[in-house]
Amino acid sequence: MIKDEYDVIIVGTGAAGLFAALKIDEKYNVLMITKDTLENSDSYLAQGGICMLLDETDYDSYFEDTMRAGRYENNKESVKVMIRSSQEIIKELIEYGVDFDKNENGDFSFTREGAHSTYRILHHKDVTGREITSKLLANVKKRDNITLSEFTTMTDILEKDNICQGIIVNHKGQTKAVKAKKVILATGGLGGLFENSTNFRHITGDSFAIAIKHGIELENINYIQIHPTTLYSKKSGRRFLISESVRGEGAVLLNSKEERFVDELLPRDVVTAAIKKQMEEDGKDYVYLSLLHMPREEIIYRFPNIYEHCLKEGFDLSEEYIPVTPAQHYLMGGIKTDTYGRTTMKNLFAAGETACNGVHGANRLASNSLLESLVYAKRAIGVIEDEIQRENIDLGNLHIESFMGNEIVDRLDQWFKNNKKSILNEIKGKDVQFYDQWCDHEN
Ligand SMILES: Cc1cc2nc3c(=O)[nH]c(=O)nc-3n(C[C@H](O)[C@H](O)[C@H](O)COP(=O)(O)OP(=O)(O)OC[C@H]3O[C@@H](n4cnc5c(N)ncnc54)[C@H](O)[C@@H]3O)c2cc1C
Repeated sequence: MIKDEYDVIIVGTGAAGLFAALKIDEKYNVLMITKDTLENSDSYLAQGGICMLLDETDYDSYFEDTMRAGRYENNKESVKVMIRSSQEIIKELIEYGVDFDKNENGDFSFTREGAHSTYRILHHKDVTGREITSKLLANVKKRDNITLSEFTTMTDILEKDNICQGIIVNHKGQTKAVKAKKVILATGGLGGLFENSTNFRHITGDSFAIAIKHGIELENINYIQIHPTTLYSKKSGRRFLISESVRGEGAVLLNSKEERFVDELLPRDVVTAAIKKQMEEDGKDYVYLSLLHMPREEIIYRFPNIYEHCLKEGFDLSEEYIPVTPAQHYLMGGIKTDTYGRTTMKNLFAAGETACNGVHGANRLASNSLLESLVYAKRAIGVIEDEIQRENIDLGNLHIESFMGNEIVDRLDQWFKNNKKSILNEIKGKDVQFYDQWCDHEN
C-alpha cells in the first residue's frame, strides 16, 4: 500500500535506486517504485562487469582510458570521483554479499573490455548485473523503512516554483499523488524508445519527458551509445548483447570473406562505425563474431549465459561464427546533475543512467556505468540526509489537489507516445545525423 507521503521517493529499482535506498539512514521512510517487476532493470542484464582501480599505479591509465573513450569531453572531476571511490564501493558490494570471480590463488579474476589498457574489470561469470542487483535487492527487502511497489509508473512530479514535492504514480490504472521531501529519479536510460536496443522495452526515458515538461535541464541527450555486437535476429523485441568481454577474451570480428576488418578492442563508437561500413560493403545486416579459438569448456565456464542464449537461437559459439549487429545500448547524457546528483530543480535528484554528471563524456568506457551508478547514488544520499535535517520540510501544508488536474494519466499508451515524440525531438534538435541514422521515425 502506497502512503500519502514519504521522506524520500526513489523511482527505479536498478543498481542506482537500490544502492541509494541502502545508503539512507533507517530512520527515514522510503518509497521505491518500479514500472515492472523489481528484477526487470537493465542493471540486472549487465554481463561484462564493473571496473575497479587496481592500485595507485593504475590511476593515470584508468583516468586516461575513460577520457579517451569519452573523446575528452568528460567532466574530469566526475571521472576522478568515480575512480577514487571504486575500491570502497567494491568493498561495500562484497559486504552486501556480492561474489566476484576469483582465480586459483583466491585473487580477483579481472577481465578486459574495449578501450581498457589493462585487466581491471571484476565480474561474476557473464551475469555480473544479476549478481549485484539481486544481492542489493535482498538487502533492501530486509529494511523495514523501505516500501517497494512493483508495476507502479511515475507519470509526473509534483512541482511548484521549481521545487519538487513528490510524484504522481499510476498503479494498476489508479492515479495517486505521493508527497516527498526528496525525490531521486533512477529510471535508467531510454532504450525502449528504439526499435533495436539491448535495454528492457519498458525503459523509455520517462524522466526525460518529465524533465522537458518542467524545464529541468538536460545535458547531452543525443550522446547515445550504440553497442557494436548484439546477436542478429529477425524477431522483434530486446536485442541480446554479446558482451565486449567476449572480444576482450580474444573473439574476432569477420566480414563475409571471413577476414578481420577492425581492431576489436577500439572504443565502441569506432568499432560500431567499422561494422556499419563493413555491413554496407557486404550488403548484409550483420557481420560475424568468432570465439573459435577458445575451448568449448572454457566458453561454457566463462560465458554460460551468452553460450546458452546463442544455443537457444540456433548458434553454437564453440563450433561456428555467430551473426552480430550494432544496436542502441546506453545513454551518456541525461538529466544534468552535479557530482552529488543535484538537478536544476530543488529537492529533485537523479542517479544512474538517468543522470548526466559528465563522467562518460561523449562515449562510455565499458563497465564504467554500474560503478558510476553506485558511486553517485551514494553521494546523493549524503546530501539528501543533510538537507532533510537542516530544512525541516513540512509536507502537511501541501495541497495535493492543486497539482492534479491535467496531470492524471489514464491512457498510459498515449502518454508514452507523447513522451517518445518529445524526447526524440530533443535528440533531433541536438543531432539530426544521429536521429536520421538510428531513431525510429514512425512515431
Ligand atoms: C544488456 C546490458 C548489458 C550491460 N552490461 C554492463 C556491464 O557489463 N557493465 C556496466 O557497467 N554496465 C553495463 N550495462 C549498463 C548498465 O547496466 C546500466 O547503465 C545501469 O545498470 C543503469 O542502472 P540504473 O539503476 O540507472 O537503471 P536501470 O537498471 O535501467 O533501472 C531503471 C529502473 O527504473 C524503472 N523505471 C523506469 N521508468 C519508470 C517510471 N516511469 N516509473 C517507475 N519506474 C520506472 C525501471 O522499471 C527500473 O526498475 C549494460 C546494460 C545492458 C542493457
